[in-house]
Amino acid sequence: MLTTTHLAAVLLLGLLLNLDRNEWFAALAFGVALDVDHLFAAPGYVERNGFAAILKPSWDDGSGIPWRSVLHYPMGAFLVIPLSVGWRLLLPLLFWLTHLAIDYVQSVTLAYSAVVESAFLASVCLGIFAFSYQAWAAASSDHGLRPFLRYVKEYLRSSIYGPRRANRGTAGRS
Ligand SMILES: [Zn+2]
Repeated sequence: MLTTTHLAAVLLLGLLLNLDRNEWFAALAFGVALDVDHLFAAPGYVERNGFAAILKPSWDDGSGIPWRSVLHYPMGAFLVIPLSVGWRLLLPLLFWLTHLAIDYVQSVTLAYSAVVESAFLASVCLGIFAFSYQAWAAASSDHGLRPFLRYVKEYLRSSIYGPRRANRGTAGRS
């Protein structure tokens, strides 16, 4: 699926598992950055199919030329499992499997890819929103959508510009 969809799925799972900084790194590497292999295949693919074909749900153009690395196939487990040893919940493996599962669902629903992906992305985003709201409401004396959106704005600002420029108390967890 689109990298944005993978990113959203990793965000939701990461929030649910309350990841720390190192764990976020592993989650993003194995859950999202995995798709970097498409970049290596892209020049040849575009040459064969034209630029617009970039947006096709599957890059399998029947040429037999691989467009995904071994990490996109079950064989990749031989690489991912050793790297997962020592991580809580074998996190790299967990996020890698999640990525493969999402790609698999897409591959079996290719004909309805746009609908399936939109519905999936929308539910994941809704999940992220619901989880964040709940966590905020539990920790804050404020309630309601407006204060929450103000908090999100402040939180994003502090993430981008650093905690010093943000209001006190909204610097987020370390
Ligand atoms: Zn993928």
